[in-house]
Amino acid sequence: MSINASRQSFAKGLQRLRQELEHKPARVLLFGPPGSGKSTLAALLAPIPERCHCLNLDPGSPSFGVPAALNLGTWCKTHWQPLAFEPLCSLDAARFRLPLLEAAKALLAQAPAGTLLLDMPGLVRGVAAAELLCALTRTLQPDWLVNLIPDGATTCLPDELRSLDLPQLDLRLADQSRTPTRKERRDQRTLLWRKYLGNAVELCVDAAELVRLGTPPPLDLASAWQGRIVALSDRRGTTAMAEIRAARHTASGGLQLQLCGPALTGSPHRLTVRDAVVDNGGLSTREPVRPNRLPSRPVPAPRYAGESLRIKVAGVEAELINGVFGDPLLLLSLQQSRRCLLFDLGNTRHLPLRCAHRVTDVFISHAHLDHIGGFIGLLRARLVSDNSLCRLYGPPGLAGHIAGMLRGMLWDRIDDRGPLFDIHEWQGDRLVCCRLQAGIENPQALPDRPIIDGILLAEDDFRIRATELDHGTPVLAYAFEPTPDWQVDTAALARSALPHGPWLGQLLEAWREDDLQRPLQLPDGRRLAAGPLAQQLLVAKPVARLAYATDLADTPDNRRRLTALARDADTLFCEACFTRNDETRAREHSHLTTRACGEIAAMAGVRQLVPFHFSKRYEEHEDELYNEIRQATGDSQIELVTAGSA
Ligand SMILES: [Zn+2]
Ligand SMILES: [Zn+2]
Repeated sequence: MSINASRQSFAKGLQRLRQELEHKPARVLLFGPPGSGKSTLAALLAPIPERCHCLNLDPGSPSFGVPAALNLGTWCKTHWQPLAFEPLCSLDAARFRLPLLEAAKALLAQAPAGTLLLDMPGLVRGVAAAELLCALTRTLQPDWLVNLIPDGATTCLPDELRSLDLPQLDLRLADQSRTPTRKERRDQRTLLWRKYLGNAVELCVDAAELVRLGTPPPLDLASAWQGRIVALSDRRGTTAMAEIRAARHTASGGLQLQLCGPALTGSPHRLTVRDAVVDNGGLSTREPVRPNRLPSRPVPAPRYAGESLRIKVAGVEAELINGVFGDPLLLLSLQQSRRCLLFDLGNTRHLPLRCAHRVTDVFISHAHLDHIGGFIGLLRARLVSDNSLCRLYGPPGLAGHIAGMLRGMLWDRIDDRGPLFDIHEWQGDRLVCCRLQAGIENPQALPDRPIIDGILLAEDDFRIRATELDHGTPVLAYAFEPTPDWQVDTAALARSALPHGPWLGQLLEAWREDDLQRPLQLPDGRRLAAGPLAQQLLVAKPVARLAYATDLADTPDNRRRLTALARDADTLFCEACFTRNDETRAREHSHLTTRACGEIAAMAGVRQLVPFHFSKRYEEHEDELYNEIRQATGDSQIELVTAGSA
């Protein structure tokens, strides 16, 4: 080959190349950064040789054919006519360079005789670029290499280029070429993709039944499949690319994909998925699903997931901090006393700091990770406050679990300033108590306390009652029972023409203490007994009993106990982990179905029901969950508090 490694102007270089190709067909590798004019040069060279083909190796910015694939085309008067493609299902040549190499090899085998222009991806820096340049050169065996260098820039990968032992021509950036913006590249490939789907049909496959290749997302994460570009092959090897328009779980545990793509001749057998996705109307790259199996940022967040659910009833604000799909964590803010109670300790990341400081008591259903894992967060939040006491209640073994978490850290800087936790373990008829402190090795035993009528805690303004349920392990369900109280009926006071004054406080006090004969001095000089005045002027304050139950098997015993605890409650927070169809799964995991949840609420006669702890598998089908629950409550007129409605 007569081309020397000398840098030439674009026009001169082009002329030189044309002469070479007219003289003899060859395989030419076009190398350079994005926008250096590789595709432009290919189109300028193409009309000269008798037969000219192009192997486009850039899945992110192909100049013709199908994006997220490598393409082979033949020059047809004014443009490249696609001949074949090999799907990569990614726009990222660097990340998937081995599959790219395989695809390039497969297309090379199909290339007709004549000149072949190898249009490289615009990767010119880093390990991936170096590896790809060397590997593609070895595989595609070009006769020479054109190195396009932008004006003012130096050669990229000089050592690798030198190592190729290949005739090279350095060319300065063409005047007419410029670096396309990210948006332009995206628009261009999206256009090509829409063109490819021009004659597409709709087809349905069950991902669980196919051989899944590439980097498929977990089957139980339907949302992560949405919008992906996939390649489908049948047993004969025919391959088509398609776009996932919808993904939903089936009753039998499969994952049904609704696809849009060209029809296949045989039935689909293999499904290749990587990170190309149609997002907001454009073709782009989806970040990998993180190992914790949560959808990563670009996955559109399901409407309700993660949003907390807050309701207000009679002086109490109740908030499911992690929403209906997240870890159980119910915050009760008692407006009058400004104190907070927590039910369960799932992920506490979103628990407001000011609330964490006000928490006096935590009621834990059981020690599964999603119910107790947020303890560290609470501990951390309380480190910054004084070492005020926090009481924890839960099933047998709780002290061991909490002590284990405290022991898991080094407390050499805290002296005796570590947060204090009084643990109360439920033993049916008594609470076994001890005190734990961060930084203090041994728990301090505290006297046991009797449990009467299931009451764990009795304060002036409320009581907490519990009942033990079965979840394969003992689980506690709780009821928050405000103390009935009285207030002055302002309308009655106005009617009585009596003035406001400190005597009203005395009246309330006498009434609460049942001292009906206590004489009260009124501002108008009269002295009257408390009893008749109270009957005339006081009314009962509205109070709301709340019940909280999660992680329980649907057994007659559990139903009976929970119904008794939640009887006539204002609000029941109740788990509904699985749909009716997934009843077997619910039984296996000792959880309730939507149906059991609705039926229990109806049996207990609660005013409103807040179902929660939904399995993440239904994250995009919450309407279905709510419909099933509504159906199960029958005509009991229960108000269903849904994530969208609260
Ligand atoms: Zn749970
Ligand atoms: Zn559990």
